[in-house]
Amino acid sequence: MQTQKARKLLMIPGPIEFEPAVLAALAEPTPSHVAPDFIEVFGRALDNLRTVFQAPDGQPFVMAGSGTLAMEAAVANLLEPGDRVLQINTGYFSDRMAAICERSGALVTHVPAPAVGDAPGLAEVERALQQDRFKLMTITHVDTSTAVLTDVAALAKLARSAGALSVVDGVCSVAGEALPMADWDVDVALTASQKALGAPPGLALVMARPRALEAFRRRTRPVASYYADWSNWLPVMQAYQARKPAYFGTPAVNLVLALDVSLAQIIAEGMEARVARHARLSEAIKAALTALGLSQVPLRPAVAAHTLSAPYFPAGVDGAALLGKINAAGVILAGGLHPALRTRYFRIGHMGAVNAADVLATVGAIEQGLHGVGYRFDAGSGLAASQRVMQGQAGHPPFA
Ligand code: PMP
Repeated sequence: MQTQKARKLLMIPGPIEFEPAVLAALAEPTPSHVAPDFIEVFGRALDNLRTVFQAPDGQPFVMAGSGTLAMEAAVANLLEPGDRVLQINTGYFSDRMAAICERSGALVTHVPAPAVGDAPGLAEVERALQQDRFKLMTITHVDTSTAVLTDVAALAKLARSAGALSVVDGVCSVAGEALPMADWDVDVALTASQKALGAPPGLALVMARPRALEAFRRRTRPVASYYADWSNWLPVMQAYQARKPAYFGTPAVNLVLALDVSLAQIIAEGMEARVARHARLSEAIKAALTALGLSQVPLRPAVAAHTLSAPYFPAGVDGAALLGKINAAGVILAGGLHPALRTRYFRIGHMGAVNAADVLATVGAIEQGLHGVGYRFDAGSGLAASQRVMQGQAGHPPFA
């Protein structure tokens, strides 16, 4: 059993630190999935998901599984062999989405980012859309391998004008970045429980708006994935929403209890305030990295996520040794993931319940780690930069 003092702060891009009340729900005696109390909780969670996704006309799907299942469910229900997909590619998870689409027999055209750390330009996306008739445009809102943020509002608009449905991988964005689905007219968005949604890993969540459901109903061949098939799940979700019992596959009952607690907390904070908190704390971390002389994978602030940061290791510093020292100083960070620069950078998750104290603890541990590997910098300069942002004394510092 770990004591509070020995416990380390988990600042990776998922799973994140969870609220005690959310974790307590896991220890509830597991109810039947058709018990009236549970039906009420699941129904309420589905209603609340519409608020969090800002999709009053959306149909939520909640399945036991990780974010990758949510990706598969989002596209497998819409694609038939031979359909064309335009993939806006900003990293590792964009590549994964393309592979998933191909598994359903789709032909995928990539619009690659001009460089790692950038996002494809809108003019290039427009050009690509003119080359073919695409059924889907798939967009990774925040690619967790590069910390690159895409302009979903503009991309979804381009998709609509070309007659394609927009599918947004929001695993690293929903409930952390602005993603007002209905306002931006996004057709499908998906996420997983373990990130900004604030519940332990194990739930795959998809929100499908009317055009996507219509396209699903018009399909002529069965969905390639049996488990993810909306024909199986739609009646179940609709039943819970109507507070009636239903069954297709046993829901992850305790995780749904935990999700319900987290959604209530998110709604109590308010979506706008929550997005603003993520932006402010992200800026505080990024300002510290810049002050410490660490450059970042996203090439400029406009394409930088607010749910995580991806700094390069300083020249001459052994990355594994640095992460080890930061861990010894009490904070767990993640290594790189993008194959082109895997060993050259690391990742800091700052989403969900993250607060100002977490930011200071993290920046402090990074400073201790840098000191431990012999990197030369002004002690406290990162902390001071973070403080200035959090106290509202700094504008938007550019980062190199
Ligand atoms: N998409 C993105 C953007 C992600 O960050 C992740 C997980 N890091 C996934 C998809 C896949 O989610 P999971 O690991 O839960 O399958």
